[in-house]
Amino acid sequence: MHSLSKKIQERIRQTRLFFLDLDGTVYLGETLIPGARQFVEHLRKQQKRYIFLTNNSSRNAAEYLKKLVALGIPATIENVFTSGQATGIFISRKKPGARLYVVGTRSLARELASYGLSVSDGKGAVDYVVVGFDTELTYDKIRTACELVDRGAGYIATNPDFVCPVGEKKNIPDCGSICFMIEQATGKKPHIIGKPHTDMVDIICRKFNVTKDKAVIIGDRLYTDIMLGRNSGVFTICVLSGESSLSDIKRSPIKPDCIVVSINELNRFFHRPKGL
Ligand SMILES: [Mg+2]
Repeated sequence: MHSLSKKIQERIRQTRLFFLDLDGTVYLGETLIPGARQFVEHLRKQQKRYIFLTNNSSRNAAEYLKKLVALGIPATIENVFTSGQATGIFISRKKPGARLYVVGTRSLARELASYGLSVSDGKGAVDYVVVGFDTELTYDKIRTACELVDRGAGYIATNPDFVCPVGEKKNIPDCGSICFMIEQATGKKPHIIGKPHTDMVDIICRKFNVTKDKAVIIGDRLYTDIMLGRNSGVFTICVLSGESSLSDIKRSPIKPDCIVVSINELNRFFHRPKGL
């Protein structure tokens, strides 16, 4: 077998915990990427843990679970971890019961409230402005956020992504683009929670008592998924089914440990007997 294939096969064999990105890795918009379901079935049969790790904070964990199950992916709520959940954990550890102004969807606001945080209309005192991937964005929300940030409220973003892939060569503006607008107006940058910051990986590895050398990250984006691997010391597999092309990877200083066309390419490693 080719040495790279051997390297991937051996790595998959040793791995106990798989972090799987969603948009661009498991599905594109509403369409499942061919082979994704089989891959997760293989993991389940081999009793390997898998966590769908997404920076997309426009939906909460229960909604992701519903989408995954509808697409035929075997999952429970334990298999989903969003940047919205990580943000809730981060803020509630820093300031329990903090008062928030949320530039995000109603789902994100509910997710944050479930951590005991108080979501306000921004008219009273606010501890943190939280910006997410707000598909319900209005000018009023941006304006209120800018006023609060200007007045000295803490400023947190769920994720740094500028765009979210929704189809072949089709992207829509994400949290990073919204934050860029606020930065242009206020001169302030947020503290960012999601990938490539290591919080999400650290929380999950601790929860399941898995060391980083027994984990793998599979994702499509260099500056989030692959950089997260670099930052947290976890092996990375980059799929070419989402944002990054082979020429993007060649040009980028952020290099994955392995590159595959899509998650489907990994399925063949489950059919071979150990040691080959
Ligand atoms: Mg992605």
